[in-house]
Amino acid sequence: MNDPQVGDIASMSEFLAHALELELESAERYRELAESMEVHNNPEVAALFRELAAEGEQHAQQVKQLGSGHELPKIAPWDFKWTSPEGPESLAMSDANYLMNRQQALQFSLSNESRARDFYRQVASMSTDADVRRIAAEMATTEDEHVNMLRQWIAQDVDTQQSILEDLDPPNTPE
Ligand code: ZN
Repeated sequence: MNDPQVGDIASMSEFLAHALELELESAERYRELAESMEVHNNPEVAALFRELAAEGEQHAQQVKQLGSGHELPKIAPWDFKWTSPEGPESLAMSDANYLMNRQQALQFSLSNESRARDFYRQVASMSTDADVRRIAAEMATTEDEHVNMLRQWIAQDVDTQQSILEDLDPPNTPE
């Protein structure tokens, strides 16, 4: 779903204010997910989320540096130019609770990263400011790497479950 308002992000300071909020929010969510996975005895996935949290914080630092020459506008949550009230990387976080299992947590993260990437891509293609387009494109590339990484994790998980199922039940129904 495209948010037409994203195209209105014209100025560098407005873009950076959005990106900063997005990355901080996202890092916070990943820390929560990491804790949840630790509770569920999923240390590898917990480590993955800690890594994604660290990357979000790194991004936020970068954004702060880029914004050091700018007066970043204070934007009220309802004025943020994306569709989810909490920002693209923290979509539907009300679903992410301590009952979330490993596969759900990975799926959640995938949609999170996909939306962040789409947000940056939209800004990269629609902003009227060339510098904003360039930086947004770089950030979209990083988020795309996160998307691919999570897809690999999910595929590995599915493979593992598949082979367990195949061991239990020899394939007598083709397809
Ligand atoms: Zn990311």
